[in-house]
Amino acid sequence: MKSFKHIDAASVEEAVSLLQESEGPAYVIAGGSDLLGCLKDNLWMEYPKAIVNLKTIPGLDTISVDEDGLHIGALVTLTKIAESETVKEFWPGLAEAARRTASPLLRNIGTIAGNICQENRCWYYRYPDKIGGRIDCVRKGGKRCLAVPGDHRYHSIFGAVNKCIAVNPSDTAPALIALDATIKTTKRTIPIDEFFSAGMGAQSTTLDRDEIVTEILVPRPAQEWTNAFRKIAFRKSIDFALVNCAAALTFADGKVTSARICLNGVHNNPRRCVESEAALIGKPLNEATAQEAGELAVAEAKPLLQNGFKVPMAKTIVIDTLMDCVK
Ligand SMILES: Cc1cc2nc3c(=O)[nH]c(=O)nc-3n(C[C@H](O)[C@H](O)[C@H](O)COP(=O)(O)OP(=O)(O)OC[C@H]3O[C@@H](n4cnc5c(N)ncnc54)[C@H](O)[C@@H]3O)c2cc1C
Ligand code: SF4
Repeated sequence: MKSFKHIDAASVEEAVSLLQESEGPAYVIAGGSDLLGCLKDNLWMEYPKAIVNLKTIPGLDTISVDEDGLHIGALVTLTKIAESETVKEFWPGLAEAARRTASPLLRNIGTIAGNICQENRCWYYRYPDKIGGRIDCVRKGGKRCLAVPGDHRYHSIFGAVNKCIAVNPSDTAPALIALDATIKTTKRTIPIDEFFSAGMGAQSTTLDRDEIVTEILVPRPAQEWTNAFRKIAFRKSIDFALVNCAAALTFADGKVTSARICLNGVHNNPRRCVESEAALIGKPLNEATAQEAGELAVAEAKPLLQNGFKVPMAKTIVIDTLMDCVK
């Protein structure tokens, strides 16, 4: 690892000033479970001159509920979300997404904001430069994507963004999208549908370089509602999703009045299944309607040579997640 300044911020305002006044690139660190690996393997196009520690800022690690819904501080750990009785009762899809992330140790240090801001896991991108030199793929400013002609078993089945086919690896992202969360930052309030944006290099969100997530608000719908999350991975613990899915629905008189369904691990950004959502409105949720929604979710899939297996997997996980929402 190269050297950099590590600065403990005492307040959100101080953290922003430190990012703005840094003489070179500066990043914030929360649990460090993703960021430290990126630094160790020298992944980024610009190595940071400074790392600003958010964990020293008081007040960002609380969960509370009011008439607006569930307020989750940016530094709340995944363990705290997974174990919260309130989250388990009213937002079980989010509790399950947090519970299925990584391992107990990582959930104890990993924060919700870090989870939605984490980097992609493409193995060419993540290749450590100390073993045989740096791999400069298109996402690192190089000319080509190595995964397209190489090993792309776990990559996108819905095409590329800027020639990159790496998928978003977050487990909590689809849950927060299904629940129509809002991201509060030091500059603005971002609807979750506008938060993810896989670009060049480390960028996986629409955050500015000097912008910090402070809170996530998950609304509580007025009508009868359910939500659920499922994940398929090779191992039960410490494994990123091959495919994961979250769904949140409201009902009146036994019929679906609104539906939000999100797949992840299938594209550069988490992917809403808008055709599936539309097909459910005004109908009861049952095996037949869930089946139709599952089929629509993958109707536009364009798998590559090695990842066709993810298409039936995505279809099935949509059906199963919806069936978990049946009252
Ligand atoms: C072995 C292993 C297994 C894993 N398995 C999974 C898994 O199954 N599912 C999954 O979803 N993830 C997984 N992860 C990824 C990750 O470690 C966790 O998701 C964790 O939640 C990241 O949170 P953190 O607080 O440690 O983030 P950090 O590493 O501190 O930060 C990650 C990124 O977020 C940015 N960031 C952090 N906080 C803020 C903020 N408040 N505002 C703006 N930017 C911020 C940082 O600058 C950095 O770019 C795994 C990681 C490892 C090492
Ligand atoms: S998928 Fe993206 S990150 Fe992976 S090699 Fe291709 S351009 Fe790089």
